[in-house]
Amino acid sequence: MRALETWAIVVAAGSGERLGADRPKAFVKFGERTLVAASLETFESHDGIDGIIVAVPEGFETEMSLIADDLGAGKIAAAVAGGASRAESVANALACLPESAHFVLVHDAARPLAGEDLIDRVMAGLADGADGVVPALAVTDTVKRLGADGSVAETFDRSTLRAVQTTQGFPVERLRSAIERAGEGLAAATDCASLVETAGGRVICVEGDPRNLKVTTAEDLQRALELAG
Ligand code: C5P
Repeated sequence: MRALETWAIVVAAGSGERLGADRPKAFVKFGERTLVAASLETFESHDGIDGIIVAVPEGFETEMSLIADDLGAGKIAAAVAGGASRAESVANALACLPESAHFVLVHDAARPLAGEDLIDRVMAGLADGADGVVPALAVTDTVKRLGADGSVAETFDRSTLRAVQTTQGFPVERLRSAIERAGEGLAAATDCASLVETAGGRVICVEGDPRNLKVTTAEDLQRALELAG
C-alpha cells in the first residue's frame, strides 16, 4: 500500500532586516549556496517527502526557479509569493498543496541545519496520530514574563518550558482549518503549532536539535556556517 503523502512547505518570504543584508534573508549566501537552498536540499533528498512548496518574497519567483534548477530539486512543485507575516506566507503555500497531500511539514528557511533525523522524528509523531508535532529543546535560562510597566510579573517553572523549532508537522486538514479559524489573529502567530493548539488540537514535542539554530543576526549566520563545517 502506498504511504500517505507528506509535503514540505519552506517559508522563505521574510525580509530579515536584523541580518542587515542587501537582500531577503533566505537568499543570503550560506557557504557555496544560499540559506534557502540548504533547507530545500534536505527535503529534496529525504525519501519520505513527496513534494515541496516554497514561499518567497514577491519578485523572487524567478530567482527561486534558478536555485531549484541549480539544485536539481525536482520535488519543488511551486514557488509562491509569501504574505506580510510568516503565517500568511504559510497560508499562501498551503493553498498550493495538491489534494493528495495528507501531512505537511512546515520549515523556516532561516534554519539551514535541520537534519534528516529531526524530520524523521516529526514524521514519526504524525504517524502516531498527533494533530501537530514540534521539535523542542529544554530551556536552560530562567524565563520571566513582564507586566505592562516593564517590571517582572511572573517567573515560570523552567522544567515545564520548551523552546520549539521548525520543522513542524501537521495533518494538512488540521493546519488548514486552524488557519481559517484564526481569522484576523493569523498575522500574530509566530509558529503554526500555536494555531493548531488554539483550535483545540493535540500538539506533541519530539527531541529538537541544538544545531538547528535560527539565523537572525550576522553572528547567527557565522555560527551556522561553523556548525555546517
Ligand atoms: O523573521 P523570522 O526569522 O522569524 O522568520 C521565520 C521564517 O519565516 C523565515 O524563514 C522567513 O523567511 C519566513 N517568513 C515568511 N514570510 C514572512 C515573514 C517571515 O516566509 N512574511
